[in-house]
Amino acid sequence: MSTDFTPVRAVAGDGRASEIENLLREDLRGQSPYGAPQLDVPVQLNTNENAFAIPDEVAAVVAEFIGRELRGLNRYPDRDAVALRTDLAAYLGHDLTADHVWAANGSNEILQQLLQAFGGPGRTVLGFMPSYSMHPLLARGTGTAFIDAGREDGYTLSPEYVRDAIAAHDPDLVFLVSPNNPTGTALEPEVIDAAYGAARGIVVIDEAYAEFARDPRSTALGRLAGRKRLVVTRTLSKAFAFAGARVGYLAADPELVEKLLLVRLPYHLSSITQAAARGALACAAQLQAEVDELKHQRDRIVKNLRAKGLPVADSDANFVLVGGLRDAAAVWRAILDRGVLIRDVGLPGRLRITAGTEDETTALLDAFDQALEQRPDMFDLQEQQP
Ligand SMILES: *Cc1c(COP(=O)(O)O)cnc(C)c1O
Repeated sequence: MSTDFTPVRAVAGDGRASEIENLLREDLRGQSPYGAPQLDVPVQLNTNENAFAIPDEVAAVVAEFIGRELRGLNRYPDRDAVALRTDLAAYLGHDLTADHVWAANGSNEILQQLLQAFGGPGRTVLGFMPSYSMHPLLARGTGTAFIDAGREDGYTLSPEYVRDAIAAHDPDLVFLVSPNNPTGTALEPEVIDAAYGAARGIVVIDEAYAEFARDPRSTALGRLAGRKRLVVTRTLSKAFAFAGARVGYLAADPELVEKLLLVRLPYHLSSITQAAARGALACAAQLQAEVDELKHQRDRIVKNLRAKGLPVADSDANFVLVGGLRDAAAVWRAILDRGVLIRDVGLPGRLRITAGTEDETTALLDAFDQALEQRPDMFDLQEQQP
């Protein structure tokens, strides 16, 4: 569970920047680090983590894989993580091999390496916010200028909109997220094709939530063949309930994968991480059963909130974005007062809710019921859909 940073004061009492602040890269001065507010409440549905702990049998398999590495920890790990990449390619299917796959400490590190190799000072990455809040931060850290093309009304993206934005900005990289965080909906394949056709640079589809999609065929993996600049990033953080292990990966053309070796730290992925990930992958089927249960709880939230008259976007992820909130901050507080932490992502009239276990989801829906009954003024209900 992440804890929040308390930013150190960068400005001295007399209003002047501190000595350290003055030594910092100009583009980092006055900035704040990433931090999802974490509060100690019984039901935490705010960070899109997998609600389920690792099952005992899976934990035993992971422990066995890690155990085999322990005596060899005097040696550096396999720099190229070939065994893990082989397992990841087998998991992905689509005729992918280890050469098409690269792994790192979370898909955040994967995205950082992509920016290091193909972005950097003087270069640009185009994104469509609201989307994953780490993308602009990773761009900043690598000195890549982040351009936000925004979205259409209702936060959707059409092929024309994406094509026009790419034509207008001519970026070195394009970041698309499907299913998108925080809106929850997967992109139409036509949007990905339009982006690839319009861009001269690298097109990255961040598929952190792919396993939760309503239609499993909505992944862009099947579009990689013949598209050398297309990259699909994935993670074990969500579907595999492995956020704490820090394992992310990508699938792309082997030549592109090779270029990432130019920027990775030697031995960036520890033997223990590689082994743990292989253990989790060996249990993919069992973990997928929990994904199915989370999808069920997600759909329950969508159906239930819609029946109350609250608009909810279709979700292909393990979270939903609810609208119809006249005062989102007040609703967030009212739900928190009932022991359930959800996420205010800063979108007017909307809040993001991670699907929980059955009991957690019940607590969430009860909290909404109570809030609707006691404080109807906070909501802006729609006519109920027949
Ligand atoms: C959660 C999330 C990730 C996961 O990042 P990791 O570094 O793999 O934990 C990546 N992309 C998006 C859009 C996410 O929401």
